Amino acid sequence: MTAPVRTLLWCAGVALAAAIVAYPLYANGYYLALGISVLYFTILATAWAMFSGPTRYISLATVAFFGLGAYTAAVLGETMPWPVVLLAAAGVGALTAVITGLSTLRLSGIYFVIFSFGLAELIRQLVIWYEVNIHKSVGRYLFSAVTQDILYWQLLGLAALVFLVGWLLGRSRYGLALRAIGADETAASHSGIDATRVKLGVFVLSATFIAMTGAVMAPRWTYIDPAIAFNPTISFQVVIMALLGGAGSLFGPVLGVIPLVLLFEVLTATLPNHFSIVLGIVFVLIVMVLPNGVIGLFGAGRSRVPAERRAAASARTMDAPLLGVEGVSKSFSGLRAVDDVSFTVAPGEIIGIIGPNGSGKTTLLNTLSGALRPSSGTIRLGGTVLNGLRAHQIARLGLARTFQLVRVMPDMTVAENVAAARLFSTSGGSDATGSELLDLVGLGAMHEAPAGDLTYIDQKRLELARALALQPRLVLLDEWLAGLNPSELEAGIALIAKLRDRGLTIIMVEHVMDAIRALCGHCIVMNAGSVIARGAPDEVLTDPKVVAAYLGGEDA
Ligand code: ADP
Ligand code: MG
Repeated sequence: MTAPVRTLLWCAGVALAAAIVAYPLYANGYYLALGISVLYFTILATAWAMFSGPTRYISLATVAFFGLGAYTAAVLGETMPWPVVLLAAAGVGALTAVITGLSTLRLSGIYFVIFSFGLAELIRQLVIWYEVNIHKSVGRYLFSAVTQDILYWQLLGLAALVFLVGWLLGRSRYGLALRAIGADETAASHSGIDATRVKLGVFVLSATFIAMTGAVMAPRWTYIDPAIAFNPTISFQVVIMALLGGAGSLFGPVLGVIPLVLLFEVLTATLPNHFSIVLGIVFVLIVMVLPNGVIGLFGAGRSRVPAERRAAASARTMDAPLLGVEGVSKSFSGLRAVDDVSFTVAPGEIIGIIGPNGSGKTTLLNTLSGALRPSSGTIRLGGTVLNGLRAHQIARLGLARTFQLVRVMPDMTVAENVAAARLFSTSGGSDATGSELLDLVGLGAMHEAPAGDLTYIDQKRLELARALALQPRLVLLDEWLAGLNPSELEAGIALIAKLRDRGLTIIMVEHVMDAIRALCGHCIVMNAGSVIARGAPDEVLTDPKVVAAYLGGEDA
């Protein structure tokens, strides 16, 4: 971009900003009302997308928070100074979001959508009950001195604040963490991201802005009753607007707000009785034609990867076993998938776990990494008992893993996948940068490729790089070499050997016996949940018990 063009763009930007700020000075009643609608939906849609965009938890609870904000203003508006009213509305929104978020953010997909819709209805009914039985009237009057001009400027200030907070959030590690959660919550947790806390934090932030918008808008109605304040259409309109513009980026939603506010304006004037039908049709069309929103057409919407974070190296204890597994069992309603398994892993060692399909190998790894809670037994990593810790906590202690069925965050870039595992890492170990790790696994040229576009083998490589990015002390590989062709297998074995030479400790579940022989000093054979043999690979592979187990299993 040349200097004159840039100056021109700057001038245009400043002129536009001035025109927006001065709008009430030259716009008359109708156009000012339209401007107010555009602004308040901009705030609602941007705040909605702050949480729902990256996580893809489609919330229909917008109007619950909006209505609570409006009601707070109606109750307190005539007795308290306006800034206090706004803060109170923010507080009510945040508190409600904490309570509901804690109980529901474990739900995912359609369950969350239904719950969020139910939540709005529940809150509306509670408010009606309170008003009828305690306050003894359904509606409330709110006479305030707030003119349309002042209302507009308040909304403008709030909109600026939402964009500022959204921008800061997108640049912070929480922004990337949220997208990682949206892409693959399990992989994100095993990369050290506390999914529950991150989701709750941003849900509360979003709800706070929505509640404040409700409070700011309350004086516009003069008379408020639950049907106005908790009108479910608002929730749907917000979703449609954000999706039309593009919920994945900060400025996407506003691109959907402007045309749809105008469209809805025309519709309420011309087709008041068919408004809901048209709303539904618009919704379906948007999802079909523009799945990534208007902004997706420009290929925009990717936030930048935060700078690499280097974690402080913590001292390692070299003599004690790094991992101690004592009598660990895991049952699934009667089926003992892992039965009283004990072993230790010394620092720098590669342990192999082999056994026929269904013998409990993956389940054992799941109990070690916190994906499952062991039914009994104790697991220690470097002296810390892991029992009862959650996946992200175990990951942060330096236990990384890959998955038997490969899990990458498909719509994030290769570099972002790796960066996601560095966000909260606090353990010691290698402090190689993300790009060094990608070079190491052979993905050096793919930094900007979406992970979902990689071949199966490259996705496996990426998973390993992501595991290493956690700066782990121990890596669990679940059939990482499965499905590789002979030359890829050779490269894969060489790579694992290189990691061992760097001092990494590895537990590998594997069917490829050549790899077990080449890499493992010691291996454990499982069958039907129990350890049936242990020792050097050559010894155990000729053990008659092991041979019988393999011949008896489905997988030779
Ligand atoms: P492997 O990795 O050795 O092939 P798994 O650990 O995946 O074996 O499975 C061991 C046994 O536990 C199998 O019988 C499997 O069906 C059962 N299993 C694994 N996960 C679950 C689960 N989440 N719920 C119920 N049964 C399970
Ligand atoms: Mg398995």
